[in-house]
Amino acid sequence: MTPPVPTAARPLPKARDVLAPPLCDAQGRVMTYLRLSVTDRCNFRCAYCSPAHWGGTKDLLTPDELERFTRVFARMGLRRVRLTGGEPLLRPDIVDIARRVSRVPGVAHVAMTTNASRLALLASPLRDAGVSQLNVSLDTLDESTFRRISPRGELSDVLRGIDAAATAGFASQKLNVVVMKGVNDAEAPAIIRYAHQRGYTPRFIELMPFGRGEGVPTRTLIESIRQAGIALEPDDAPKEDTSGPARYLRAPTGRVGFVSPMTENFCGGCNRLRVSAKGELRSCLGGRSQVPLAQLVRGGASDEELAWAIRRALGEKQEGHRFNDPQATGALLSMMGIGG
Ligand code: SAM
Ligand code: SF4
Repeated sequence: MTPPVPTAARPLPKARDVLAPPLCDAQGRVMTYLRLSVTDRCNFRCAYCSPAHWGGTKDLLTPDELERFTRVFARMGLRRVRLTGGEPLLRPDIVDIARRVSRVPGVAHVAMTTNASRLALLASPLRDAGVSQLNVSLDTLDESTFRRISPRGELSDVLRGIDAAATAGFASQKLNVVVMKGVNDAEAPAIIRYAHQRGYTPRFIELMPFGRGEGVPTRTLIESIRQAGIALEPDDAPKEDTSGPARYLRAPTGRVGFVSPMTENFCGGCNRLRVSAKGELRSCLGGRSQVPLAQLVRGGASDEELAWAIRRALGEKQEGHRFNDPQATGALLSMMGIGG
């Protein structure tokens, strides 16, 4: 596949600068955050995430390739890497991958998003390998609701993993909750209490149109949490530079985050790039364009050639996602391959 052409408004840099920061997109936004999907396989198949039929990619990126991509992106100015999937902990070499990525010069933070099913075993090794920020997905504390959302998972494994990670010494721990109307929306107050008791910051995410289910607008959810007796006040603490698109409010027991891709478009501050499990660069979660970085590497491309391809793709990055446009969402790339 030929990489897309840059816009006239944003010409490519001179050859000698192609690996030098900043890495900007067509809108002038500077990219600093890389999300690497290390697998598109998953042991949970959550209703909102996975397609009904899913084979999985055969040629996943190797640890060498993941390290090489990280090195090239870090030379171009990306400072933060998140390992995601599918379920990243299904990879037997995940600790080695985390260690190699965290040692790349220029990488300041390595984060991971996981369903926690194997975290009881891996929390401490991952921490020792350099993962400092952990996001765990937990949509419900109720066994039967869990079965409805993630039919192949075991809630007890997830809860054990969450407890193990709580004592492993991560610098930041968050609980991601995808909110679905009539499924888990009423559990928000209980999940806030559960998370704060264990030192996690809960973050409620509006459902995006990748799978099944009906979402709840953040505004409605905040109102229902307040009606349940939990005061949510504006949060005066300075926003961490790693907090991404989440907006935070303060409950009596701690902070509560809200991520609102459907009702509060945050694309103006987008600083992120994604590499899918197949090794394709995706400049937007809600977009369709992709550049086959793995194919380029396997064909012998140099770091400079990769950097050109990356800059060309960024030259096409749109102003924002189009989740609210039914014609665009029909062709969205799968969430399991992109990694959220
Ligand atoms: N398997 C890992 C996990 O579940 O945390 C990592 C991959 S998962 C694709 C990354 C994040 O995307 C999770 O927090 C998940 O809840 C979120 N996610 C998946 N599908 C979503 C959807 N349709 N809308 C909003 N968030 C979604
Ligand atoms: Fe798997 Fe995570 Fe998607 Fe659930 S959200 S199906 S655990 S990749």
